[in-house]
Amino acid sequence: MVIVTNPVGNDWMKAMTSQRPKKILIVEDEQDIAQLVKHYLEKEGFHSNIAKTGLEALKLAVSEHPDLIILDLMLPEVDGLEVCKALRHKPETALSPIIMLTAKKEESDTVVGLELGADDYVTKPFSPKTLVARVKSLFRRLARTNNQNPTTLAYGLLQMDLTRHEVTVRGDEVLLTAKEFGLLEHLLRHPGRVLTREVLLNEVWGYDYLGTTRTVDVHVRRLKLKVPLLNESIVSIKTLGYKLLDKPLTQ
Ligand code: CA
Repeated sequence: MVIVTNPVGNDWMKAMTSQRPKKILIVEDEQDIAQLVKHYLEKEGFHSNIAKTGLEALKLAVSEHPDLIILDLMLPEVDGLEVCKALRHKPETALSPIIMLTAKKEESDTVVGLELGADDYVTKPFSPKTLVARVKSLFRRLARTNNQNPTTLAYGLLQMDLTRHEVTVRGDEVLLTAKEFGLLEHLLRHPGRVLTREVLLNEVWGYDYLGTTRTVDVHVRRLKLKVPLLNESIVSIKTLGYKLLDKPLTQ
């Protein structure tokens, strides 16, 4: 009897279906933390480099084309916020995803970092597993938003038709003002991301709008009243701003 074995082994299948490993640049001067993060990332199949200073980070960010940058804000000489600003100004790194490592007592730095364009932050002390989970979640979010320029957005049972300017929940239309619509669209396009009031104000109301950030709070409240499923899903992040949870908590 001839036993026919499948010539296409598992390894080959894996190689064909998996993409190249993602490269992550870790910017941290404390070597024990940097090595720990590197160890956990590599265990999950990521490739990683370490930059010990801000200047080294800027150099490696251009030469190595990392897919994501983990940036500690506490760095000697050029600090993390300066690095973040410089990364956003360089065309090669303007769109590089950034997760900041921040300290609890530096909440104002976290706000500045988010406004400079960092995508997420993790507060020190953190567990490496949490950081890895945030890295994966950011990659998932980017894969979703890079995919297409959708004409409809969905969130649980909520559907947003961008061409018809229509929002429905379980098929029932919800009437929103233009700004409420704009705010909801911005939240749905950035689930899981902390959006500061200033960022929302600029994105939804525009840079020339003269109102205060309280406008954002008022509109978030109205949006929650009109769309109850957003009630627990739009969470207020202390003094920073708002975040739409990745998935709705209630339907
Ligand atoms: Ca540090």
